[in-house]
Amino acid sequence: MRFKADPADYRLDEAQHLLVVRWRDGHESRYSFDDLRKVCPCADCRTAEEPRGGLQVLTGPVVRRGEIRIVAISPVGRYALGFRWSDGHSTGIYSFDFLRELCPCEACRLGAG
Ligand SMILES: [Zn+2]
Ligand SMILES: [Zn+2]
Repeated sequence: MRFKADPADYRLDEAQHLLVVRWRDGHESRYSFDDLRKVCPCADCRTAEEPRGGLQVLTGPVVRRGEIRIVAISPVGRYALGFRWSDGHSTGIYSFDFLRELCPCEACRLGAG
C-alpha cells in the first residue's frame, strides 16, 4: 500500500454529513455522504443507470441530496472501509486508495487534473 493512502484516523461528522479521513501524511479529506454514496463501487451501483436528479438506488427509493446518511462503518481488512447507508445499502467496499483518489479538496483536484 502506498504511504499516501494510509489512514491515521477517520470519523463521521453527523452534523455536516461528512466522512472525515485523516491520512498519515497529515492530509485530511472530507467527503460528503451524498458524493460517497454516488460513487459506491459495488457491482450493483456501477451497473445501474446514470441517476437523473436524485440518487437512484436500484432496489430502494430515490434519495434526495442531503438525505442519505452513513449509519455504520466497518473496516474491511486493513485496506478498505464498508459503509451501511440509511437507504439499507451496504455492499460497497471503499478501498483507502480509492478514497484518497476521491479527495474533493482543491489541492487534490488540481493535482489530479
Ligand atoms: Zn453500491
Ligand atoms: Zn485532498
